[in-house]
Amino acid sequence: MLHTLRRIVNEVNEAQNLSEALRIIVRRVRQAMGADVCSVYLSDASSGDYVLMATEGLNPQAVGRLRLARGEGLVSVVAETQEPLNLEDAPAHPRFSYCAESGEAPYRTFLGVPIIHHRQVMGILIVQHTERSFGEDDVSFLLTVASQLAGAIAHADASGGIKGLADDAAGSRHIDGLPGAPGVGLGTAVVVYPPANLEAIPDRAIQDSEKEVTIFLAALEAARREIRDLSRRMNAALSKEDRALFEAYALMLDSTTLERRTIENIRAGNWAAGALRATIIEHARIFDEMDDPYISERAGDIRDVGRRILAHIQNNATSQMDYPAQTILVGEEISVTELSQAPLERLAGVVSGAGSTSSHVAILARALGIPAVVGASYLPVSRIDGRELVVDGYKGRVFISPHAAVRDEYRRLAREEEELAAGLEEFSTRPAITRDGVRVPLYANTGLLSDINPSLARGAEGVGLYRTEFPFMMRQQFPGEEEQCRIYRRVLEAFSPRPVYLRTLDIGGDKVLPYFPIHEDNPFLGWRGIRVTLDHPEIFVVQLRAILRASAGLDNLRLLLPMVSHVAEVDQARDIIARVFSELKEAGESITMPETGIMIEVPSTLYQIEDLAPRVDFFSVGTNDLTQYLLAVDRNNARVAALYDILHPALLRALAQVVLAAQRHGKPVSVCGEMAGDPAAAILLLGMGISSFSTTAASLPRIKWVICNFSIAEARNILDEVLLMEDSHAIRAYLNDRLDSAGLGSLVRAGK
Ligand code: PEP
Ligand code: MG
Repeated sequence: MLHTLRRIVNEVNEAQNLSEALRIIVRRVRQAMGADVCSVYLSDASSGDYVLMATEGLNPQAVGRLRLARGEGLVSVVAETQEPLNLEDAPAHPRFSYCAESGEAPYRTFLGVPIIHHRQVMGILIVQHTERSFGEDDVSFLLTVASQLAGAIAHADASGGIKGLADDAAGSRHIDGLPGAPGVGLGTAVVVYPPANLEAIPDRAIQDSEKEVTIFLAALEAARREIRDLSRRMNAALSKEDRALFEAYALMLDSTTLERRTIENIRAGNWAAGALRATIIEHARIFDEMDDPYISERAGDIRDVGRRILAHIQNNATSQMDYPAQTILVGEEISVTELSQAPLERLAGVVSGAGSTSSHVAILARALGIPAVVGASYLPVSRIDGRELVVDGYKGRVFISPHAAVRDEYRRLAREEEELAAGLEEFSTRPAITRDGVRVPLYANTGLLSDINPSLARGAEGVGLYRTEFPFMMRQQFPGEEEQCRIYRRVLEAFSPRPVYLRTLDIGGDKVLPYFPIHEDNPFLGWRGIRVTLDHPEIFVVQLRAILRASAGLDNLRLLLPMVSHVAEVDQARDIIARVFSELKEAGESITMPETGIMIEVPSTLYQIEDLAPRVDFFSVGTNDLTQYLLAVDRNNARVAALYDILHPALLRALAQVVLAAQRHGKPVSVCGEMAGDPAAAILLLGMGISSFSTTAASLPRIKWVICNFSIAEARNILDEVLLMEDSHAIRAYLNDRLDSAGLGSLVRAGK
């Protein structure tokens, strides 16, 4: 049975569209169960009807025509009860309704199961027979088929394949991926295909190998020029250091192995294109074979480079793409070069079938401020060129040919975001002071040097979290001490005398370096943050030397340690920091010992504030990880995204207690997770006595607006009310209400 099931699932996954997928299901299931009839009904969201979408055994003319209103027939019984219905004498059931056009008169027995995806009944899968009744095994088999296929059906449906149903039913559905870069984008899909199909290049014997070598070298040079041009194009949008992304490509193109191996292959008798294919595939395979997705990503970069050289060999590198005014760039795996080729002023969004929140394309999109969804694995790339898309980079969601209501709603959100940003500009030069006169520092989260100016423009009073892993992620090897020192110095200098909280390397989890692979079944519970740096003092010490040297004469550095779960980690890290500090002092550096604090992001630290407080100068709550660990919800898993809730009562109560415990020791607590950028949550953080907020630069003006419109006393009262509540939805509704009555309703309606 398992074998049959696997075969059906595989075939369905390969289907071109929903109709084909459903036809395969009914044919295969009828065969496997020896039934006379197998049919699928799907729910039409616009009318509420169930529509016969595929059948083997009933009248094929009825497909797409036969509709059962909600509440009608046995189909509705299955949908309502959401459980199997197994009948020996279907016509005897009180809810049986006979449809002459279906041709089901001869079939007495009936087994129907619901197809459920994310708690929604998508449709019903039915088998029927003239005589034979269905047993327990049949019920189990059909249920298993339906549960395995629900996801595939939901996603085929989302791609607009649900022919026969009203268009708008499909338009309200969506594809989920991962949030790559925040923001909302509406526009036209422009599908980018790799410039040349490397894998399809055959081997071809040649006579004149020197001629082929010349062709290859000319193409290699042209590709190098192209990458240099792309990097230059990004001049205005990215800082020099952030353009290191392109250095990765340049390094690959300059690699002597690539050049040498391809020339060897040519001299062995293959033409330039075939020789290049062999070299690239050989290199990419080494990375492909490693399970780690981040390493495979590197293979993607190598193939991208290969395709670029091939395009020059084939002389078709100059083909110009047409980018409409509001372009949403879509592809199986959008590369950094593809993104940088599009004219920035026309880019409204990016959707990539592959990638994760920390892949290069996501980092680049964030740096450029373009909403992006990555890892949208069900993306029907081949069928969406030219279609209208809505990209929700906050949720990691893409709507294809959206329903008018969805489109209008997102258009309104985008407009309101713009208006809000413009209206809040006046706030950027003002400090955040509560109605009762308490000044609350607002800092920016960053990891890119390109973020410095936007952060300053939005009134950041410092950097509350500088993620040092970003510059590490954009390179091909660990950056050296001098290079790191230069990068850190630029941030420290740009904000001086305002404070900059530099967090030491926080790799592991979803942030893995291509050149430092970590293979783990459970990376979020594995070798992350301080666990890695304490195990690798050679990496930690180089970083600390670079950070401390960068701070010379500035006095605005604060050190932040990530992923602390044991007090011993703090002691060990502080010992290393003290040693590095005194070595540098002895060497004559004019530096001062920075204040040092830890991230509160692992639940164990919530219960050890008393023990940790004497060891640190401050605490910074990383609500992104704390939420995921406290609620046991992977922060990057779309399937459980609805359970990831920063207003969960457990999280709020824990935070309130942390602040009280830290205050008893006179240690300030800041919040640097995304929660600090949520206007509703900000009221609660204010009430708790959080000493500073740090969030993405784009959210700063809104948070300032909230702070300026509440008094600490009001915020405390609201917090007291909320701490008595047991449901996060009720908490959200209550807080939105409070924002509304304070005249800040537009913050709520803007979807934040
Ligand atoms: C956090 O966990 O809340 C945090 C700010 O760190 P990161 O998102 O980089 O893990
Ligand atoms: Mg974290």
